[in-house]
Amino acid sequence: MGGGPVSQELPRAYEPKNVEERIYEEWERSGAFAPWGEGEPFCIVLPPPNVTGILHMGHALDHSIQDAIVRRRRMQGYRTLWLPGTDHAGIATQNVVERELAKEGKTRHDLGRDAFVERVWAWKEHSGGTITRQMRRLGESVDWSRERFTMDDDLSRAVRLVFVRLYDEGLIYRGNRIINWCPRCMTALSDIEVEHSDVEGELIHINYPLADRSGHITVATTRVETMLGDTGVAVSPADGRYKHLVGKIAILPIIGRELPIVADKAVDPAFGSGAVKVTPAHDPVDFEIAQRTGLPPVNIFNPDATINSNGGRYEGMDRYAARKAVLEELRALGAVEKEERPYIHSVGHCQRCKTEVEPWLSEQWFVKVEPLAKPAIDAVRGGRTRFVPNRFERNYFNWMENLRDWCISRQLWWGHRIPIFTCANGHQFAATEDPTTCSKCDSAELTQDPDVLDTWFSSALWPFSTLGWPGKTEDARSYYPTSVLVTGYDIITFWVSRMMMMGLHFMGDVPFRDCHIHGMMRDFRGKKMSKSFGNAMDPLELIERYGADALRMTLLRSATLGSDVPVAEKWIEGDRNFANKLWNISRFVLMNRSPAGPGPAPSLRSIDMYWSRADRWILSRLDATVAGVDEALEGYDLARAAQMLRQFTWSEFADWYVEWSKGPLQHGAGEFKDATRAVLSHVLSTLLRLLHPIMPFVTEELYRALTGEPAITARWPEPDPTLQDRDAEAEMEFVMGVVGALRRFRADHQIPHAARPEAKAEIEDPRLAKILGEELERVRAVASWGEITIGSGNGAGGVQARLVVPGAVINVPLAGVLDLDAERARLAKEIAHLSNEADRARTNLSNPGFLSGAKEEVIEQHRERLVETERALERLREALRDLEG
Ligand SMILES: [Zn+2]
Ligand SMILES: [Zn+2]
Repeated sequence: MGGGPVSQELPRAYEPKNVEERIYEEWERSGAFAPWGEGEPFCIVLPPPNVTGILHMGHALDHSIQDAIVRRRRMQGYRTLWLPGTDHAGIATQNVVERELAKEGKTRHDLGRDAFVERVWAWKEHSGGTITRQMRRLGESVDWSRERFTMDDDLSRAVRLVFVRLYDEGLIYRGNRIINWCPRCMTALSDIEVEHSDVEGELIHINYPLADRSGHITVATTRVETMLGDTGVAVSPADGRYKHLVGKIAILPIIGRELPIVADKAVDPAFGSGAVKVTPAHDPVDFEIAQRTGLPPVNIFNPDATINSNGGRYEGMDRYAARKAVLEELRALGAVEKEERPYIHSVGHCQRCKTEVEPWLSEQWFVKVEPLAKPAIDAVRGGRTRFVPNRFERNYFNWMENLRDWCISRQLWWGHRIPIFTCANGHQFAATEDPTTCSKCDSAELTQDPDVLDTWFSSALWPFSTLGWPGKTEDARSYYPTSVLVTGYDIITFWVSRMMMMGLHFMGDVPFRDCHIHGMMRDFRGKKMSKSFGNAMDPLELIERYGADALRMTLLRSATLGSDVPVAEKWIEGDRNFANKLWNISRFVLMNRSPAGPGPAPSLRSIDMYWSRADRWILSRLDATVAGVDEALEGYDLARAAQMLRQFTWSEFADWYVEWSKGPLQHGAGEFKDATRAVLSHVLSTLLRLLHPIMPFVTEELYRALTGEPAITARWPEPDPTLQDRDAEAEMEFVMGVVGALRRFRADHQIPHAARPEAKAEIEDPRLAKILGEELERVRAVASWGEITIGSGNGAGGVQARLVVPGAVINVPLAGVLDLDAERARLAKEIAHLSNEADRARTNLSNPGFLSGAKEEVIEQHRERLVETERALERLREALRDLEG
């Protein structure tokens, strides 16, 4: 992309709204997001957000991390691709459209399958993909020309081919398993689509009589109605209390079914009586006990969770009504031993419709994962894919080694329909193209399986289906394996592991070299951010208020490697101020950069003999920052990089160097002035490039103003060890210590701005005395100070404040600077006032009434204010001690 005209004039204040949209359009138009150049390939595929999704703080974090990584690689000269796309999100999207239909008084069945699917496509065209427009607001440098959707024709072909191959290899089978079933959506759900929450329920202890009339055995359940499906009673093999009962028969009340008493390791002897009812069709643990002990499953539910004919006279009754009615009957039979209420226990709900999920034995399609898991485990063991931080490997291994077969069928209409066909003669086969006749008997009477595939089936192929597989495309050749996958730790199990299995099986290599795992969004008190807690923040509102760069900076500097990510709105406000600071420094540099004489400004190196101590110091500090930021980013530690940059910009460059530079700029001789100008421009240009991956908009605008070239394609700064200057750093640290002490003195005693106090610095080390002497003019200027003499004895008498800094003691005579009595009185009054305030705050904070009544934010505010008050008190007492002389 070409450089724009150099604009010397920047508006006084940074207004993100005037910059962000324009810059984004320019980036997109210039082609900078598409891969370019001859460098090594670098690729990230964006974890596809749901097509129904809107940008939330979790995306904002995840996408900011990826954009920062991608922008740095692009600047380093890699041929960089960040590939975007969206997921068709089977159940989520189907529910959105079903809700629309409900408003018209219709269900999907009124439309029929084909018309309903057409309706979903129409919804997708008009209302879907909101999130891709919102991603532009965040500044994401994805290559929109390669945008994909999991149900694009070519991606659907890839899904179908993978299914057929796995089926033909015997890795896909149909079987009866316990799955999560939503009786409202009438479909199987994956574990991630089930939300668990604690509810107040009941625990009912029921006595099952023994068939030999020798007594009874007691079991406990939170769902009494499921006893209709009991086929056994289980105890722990280690439980001495029940050894004599194993092998005997109990009788199920109401139904009269014979229940063998079995021993199984899954039973916890500490729960209830130590004996449990076994309901194989409605509980995953019971299903496994039944498989080990040979108990048969008895399914008591219809798909809508009403009782079926196995429930005897309860047939047709809803599960909640049956719960009451069965309990009534058990009470009447005298079979209830004990009722505990309320009994708090965890219950799963459908993420989409909030209906209570039913663990249900049903016939579904499964992927046999064991043969696929082994290579995926080996690949991580062998270092072909590396987890960052490394400790997440444990989660991965743990999951992969305990994997159950993957239920891939969903009873939905929106999604990839399962390509299994059955002919009139019962032959069953999978086909990549819709067949017209049976592959075995030529029968033309074919029916296709009505189910669709789990959405995660297509997302498991995302790293290669998006690059054109099964075609042997240039993109697949260049970019597979992709460089890094960035995702939250919550979906290692669901997604990362499945991409690993599919990538290795179909591409013969891992899907990504690095897997960078980040934490979850939290509020500033560390509480999980969620709509239901009322602490969710809307990234678009925050961008509107503070600009995208401020939001990105806060997210990234809070995202400590591998930890959860706390955010507060005032931090984002602080980073808006940071963007303003950057803007103001840049205006200063631009205003001061015109060369002293005719001709182009001299380069940094050509005048290095004129570098001042401060010049050498800031260049040395800059070099340390370049090296530190680069190293942090190489290890995906974005928080450390962001914190270093913020610290350097604010505390070293703006607060010190820019202030220091005003001396040579105003009074320096030509070459010294040029040297300072060159250093200012060099530091700013380097800093803008280092900050670009984190704060792309403001840096782009400023970098263009400074250099006439775009930042997005600028060269990434590299460390230059020849700029390191330990002496200059140590010397400036000493000088800054002196200035800091003088500034604190002014602030503590409220010295009027126009006043110019004097001081005498006692310095033992002649080398330090010489340094301070050389810098004295700047010290006085930046501290607004009068005469400072340097000596080794304590000079004139009278009341003096003693300011102690490493290497020096500074005596400030107070006569004439302060009216000592008035100042003592002012300080005493202030101390009394703040002491009262602190006492009040401490009383409140130790009052249980206040603590239990006030909102948590309010308490937190009180605590913060108390800390600040105590800090201020300490300073005031110190200032008062100064006056005692
Ligand atoms: Zn549901
Ligand atoms: Zn056939």
